[in-house]
Amino acid sequence: MARIAIIGAGLSGLVTANALAADHSVVVFDKSRGTGGRMATRYAGRYEFDHGAQFFTARTDAFAAECRRMLEAGVIGIWQAEFRDFRGADIVAERRWGADYRHYVGTPRMNTIGKCLDRDINLRLETEINSIRWDHGRWSLFDASDDKLGDFDWLVLALPAPQAATLVPADEGFSKRCADVEMRACYAMMLGFSKPLPISWHAAHVRDADISWISVNSSKPGRPGSECIVVHSTNAWADSNIDAPSDVVQQHLLAEFRRVSGVNPTAAEFVATHRWRYANVAPQSAEACYVDENRQLAACGDWFIHGRIEAAHSSAAAMLERLTGSL
Ligand SMILES: Cc1cc2nc3c(=O)[nH]c(=O)nc-3n(C[C@H](O)[C@H](O)[C@H](O)COP(=O)(O)OP(=O)(O)OC[C@H]3O[C@@H](n4cnc5c(N)ncnc54)[C@H](O)[C@@H]3O)c2cc1C
Repeated sequence: MARIAIIGAGLSGLVTANALAADHSVVVFDKSRGTGGRMATRYAGRYEFDHGAQFFTARTDAFAAECRRMLEAGVIGIWQAEFRDFRGADIVAERRWGADYRHYVGTPRMNTIGKCLDRDINLRLETEINSIRWDHGRWSLFDASDDKLGDFDWLVLALPAPQAATLVPADEGFSKRCADVEMRACYAMMLGFSKPLPISWHAAHVRDADISWISVNSSKPGRPGSECIVVHSTNAWADSNIDAPSDVVQQHLLAEFRRVSGVNPTAAEFVATHRWRYANVAPQSAEACYVDENRQLAACGDWFIHGRIEAAHSSAAAMLERLTGSL
């Protein structure tokens, strides 16, 4: 039985922990208060917002089978949204998402998926790993106060590449690979309205604007009735305005939302904006995970493949297959 540390309780880290915990001693560390990583939900009184990942699809047989299992367990549902393509304020295409190509969401919230996967796991939340050291064949983890959090035979990094890059010692070849991956930012604006809005759609991709996405979160299956809107900036606008004051960001996103949707946001009872510094990554062509048997270091996450929930799952599955022979 190996002692294994996993840093990151997003989907890739949780899938890994569940697979390894039966035969090994596994501890999962995450700096956040809850699990699920970017599959996140924000609560504000009677309003709730999936302000990270919006929905997901399954293209591979393995992930499709996993989705069927979660669907049967009621952990996810199918979002049959009225979808629109916007160019600026003009709707250029519309369709209803149907059962032919399923758009899945966690039910009743996106963060349910993490909550269901973390039930039988030894979790250390609100624990940010500040440094890692390889010494005498073991990995030691340290927090910001340089307090040691344990010694482990194997270390799995299940966090975005730029965050992995800050931990991996510079003399590891893997350090450069992490540092070379560009992850893009995104701002998520959340609007809660006390009355239904005069729009006939639930989800929209937007082009020719600084926002790329609008969703009526409350139209997803199992959500409470209050009208909850999520607006995402484009990655380009977020990258260019990553250090802008939050009120400046919010005012710009409100103006863009109004210009595109025609909805006056001043009626919103709740408005907040969240910055995702490492939201998305373009499709990658290198290996889907990392495993170094000598250093007993492994890594997985969406960034090895593409900024998608399915990619996080596929990367973890690829890494687990490689680890089978080594553990
Ligand atoms: C705004 C936005 C919209 C998105 N929309 C979609 C979508 O519609 N469809 C889709 O398929 N995907 C979407 N995604 C992407 C999807 O959310 C990710 O691909 C997936 O959740 C990544 O999972 P992961 O396990 O690889 O990483 P993460 O979910 O990022 O998990 C990494 C975890 O590591 C933790 N961590 C980081 N550093 C440390 C540290 N030093 N110590 C301890 N813990 C640490 C973090 O707190 C986090 O919980 C979106 C993402 C964002 C942000």
